[in-house]
Amino acid sequence: MVPYKVVIERDECTSCGNCEDECPELFQLDEGGIAHLKNSARVNNNDELYLEDPDCSLDAALNCPVVCIHVYEDGEEIS
Ligand code: SF4
Repeated sequence: MVPYKVVIERDECTSCGNCEDECPELFQLDEGGIAHLKNSARVNNNDELYLEDPDCSLDAALNCPVVCIHVYEDGEEIS
């Protein structure tokens, strides 16, 4: 089982761009200016991405001013 999951609650995103600045490998603003996780699944209006390594998603989550990026390890939220 892939241990890490990253989620963006896109309805809460204010388009500040911090996540893209902190972690362009994983995050980009879409054409509407809302944060998007590259290669993720869209579930309702959230983006969900499973990873072997959380990499810079943790930095992105810490720098999201509205705390709409969440990182889970084995189902437990770690950021
Ligand atoms: S840091 Fe948060 S509010 Fe800013 S663009 Fe990324 S998801 Fe949206």
